[in-house]
Amino acid sequence: MNMKLFDAHCHLQDPRIYHISSEKIKSAREAGVVHIAVNGVSENDWQLVKEMSENNPCVISNFGLHPWFILDRNPDWLRNLKQFLQSTPEAAVGEIGLDRAPWASHVDYTDQVEVFQKQLQLAKEINRPASIHCVEAFDDLIEILKSLGPFPAGFLLHSYNGSHDLVPQLADLGAYFSISGHLMPMELSKAKKILKAIPLDRILLETDSPDALPTTICSDPNLSAASDEEMLNHPANIHYVLEYVASLLEMEKEELAQMSFNNARKIFSYGDTKISA
Ligand SMILES: [Zn+2]
Repeated sequence: MNMKLFDAHCHLQDPRIYHISSEKIKSAREAGVVHIAVNGVSENDWQLVKEMSENNPCVISNFGLHPWFILDRNPDWLRNLKQFLQSTPEAAVGEIGLDRAPWASHVDYTDQVEVFQKQLQLAKEINRPASIHCVEAFDDLIEILKSLGPFPAGFLLHSYNGSHDLVPQLADLGAYFSISGHLMPMELSKAKKILKAIPLDRILLETDSPDALPTTICSDPNLSAASDEEMLNHPANIHYVLEYVASLLEMEKEELAQMSFNNARKIFSYGDTKISA
C-alpha cells in the first residue's frame, strides 16, 4: 500500500497531546501521512505551532484566533498574528470562525464576527488560505464570504457538517470541504447526502486531533480497556476517515486518498510553500 495522505486540520500543540506529538508525527509519517496542517487557536500557542513546523518538515503551521478563545486576546493581537504569518511564509490562517452553538454562548457573537472578519481580511491581504470553523452560523458565514471575497488563496471549512443544500453556494465562493470523524455520528443517509454534494476537486480529509476520534475506533471492542492516551485522536487515524468517506461515496480508498491529497496540496501551495511537487 502506497497511499499518500494529508491531514488538512488538527491541533498537535494541544496540551492533551503535545507531550507525545513527536511520536504521533512519526506514526503518521509511517502511515503515509505526508503533511499535517497544525492549527493554533490562541496567541498562547502560536509559538509552539511555529516551533513544531520548524522541527518537522511535514508540519504546516496555521495561526489564528479560534472563536472560543477570543476573550483572552491582547489589544495587539492582530499585529501579533500578522507578525507570525509574515515570519512564517508557508503558514496559513487558522483556526478562525464563527460558533453559535450553546457551548460558545459565553463568547459575544458580535465580537466573534469582528475578530473573524479581521482574520479573513488579513488572509486575503497576504494571500494565504484560511481554515474556518463554522457551527450553526452558515448564513452569516456566507454573507461575510460574499462581502469580503473573492479569496484567491482559498479557504477550507474544517469538519464540515453543514447542510448539503449549502454546498453548491459555498463551493461557488471557493470553499474546500474538510471532513473529519465529527461527521461519523451523523445518520448515514444524511452524511452521504452532504458528501455527495461536495465537488470531488474540493474534498479534503482531516483528523481535528486530538478531538473527533473516529467512532470506528471508539466502538472497537479491543479498545474497551484503552488508556486515555489511546482515546486521543491523532493524525495516523486519518485512515479511518478515509475509509468512512470512501465507503459513503462508494469510491475506492486509493482513489479518494489521491484526490483529497491533490486537493490539499493545491490549497496549501502558495508563497514559500513546504509542499513538494
Ligand atoms: Zn480544529
